[in-house]
Amino acid sequence: MNVVITGATKGMGRAMAELFAAKGANLAICARTQEDINNLRLELSNINSEVEILGQAADMSKKASVKEFADFIKESWDRVDVLINNAGVFIPCELANPENDSAFEMMMDTNLYSAYYMTQELLPLMLPNKSGHIFNICSIASFMPYGAYAVSKHAMLGFSKVLREEMKTKGIRVTAVMPGATRTASWDGTNLPDERFMKSEDVAEAVWGCYKLSPFTVVEELILRPQLGDI
Ligand code: NAP
Repeated sequence: MNVVITGATKGMGRAMAELFAAKGANLAICARTQEDINNLRLELSNINSEVEILGQAADMSKKASVKEFADFIKESWDRVDVLINNAGVFIPCELANPENDSAFEMMMDTNLYSAYYMTQELLPLMLPNKSGHIFNICSIASFMPYGAYAVSKHAMLGFSKVLREEMKTKGIRVTAVMPGATRTASWDGTNLPDERFMKSEDVAEAVWGCYKLSPFTVVEELILRPQLGDI
């Protein structure tokens, strides 16, 4: 099983990489920081020495970098079984302030366009097999108006719904994952106790649960919230 995870060195991406490696999946991972990729490759090899771990630095907010990462994967693999479009950034800002233009553009590029271009690049490695699973990591902000970030995540949910329709008859499952507040680096500096958040490991377990269903069933939307509700 060949699994691609974008933004895999921290948080949910890392938890999913660890779980899929433990389950015996070969992994292709990226993030912007090469040192973190090197460290994660070592850690994943320690979790399971039998699996192949491909890793390359890539800035998924840039179309050219998405293509370079996809080409790097295609040099080693002629099929992909799972694509997890996870790379994302949260920058708190309001739409009405023009000073936020660059932050807004960065969120749209990282949270939406990365998934759009990566999916286009890797579908040719899935379609011939008439099987595969694409997970798009959206957010509770995909249906709640939580700042300018929510625009990118609403769009990611729309992307996921349309892709699901396009893939319905092609044997490829598409799942939109909508996690609530999860204690990752995105929340560094918060005063809230860890107990107020979900754990990345639980998101990874839920994704694995969707994946391991038979090909006759797809979880189209997966909503996960902290037990005490949104923050
Ligand atoms: P995180 O802990 O902040 O980690 C983000 C990962 O993505 C890191 O490995 C980071 O590494 C990488 N990354 C960031 N920008 C990138 C880029 N332009 N190109 C390639 N890699 C990039 O994130 P997280 O909290 O686990 O969030 C993962 C996903 O879940 C995101 O899409 C986020 O929007 C979504 N989400 C998070 C929460 C939450 O409460 N944490 C809730 C709902 C949804 P580098 O910095 O080295 O690139």
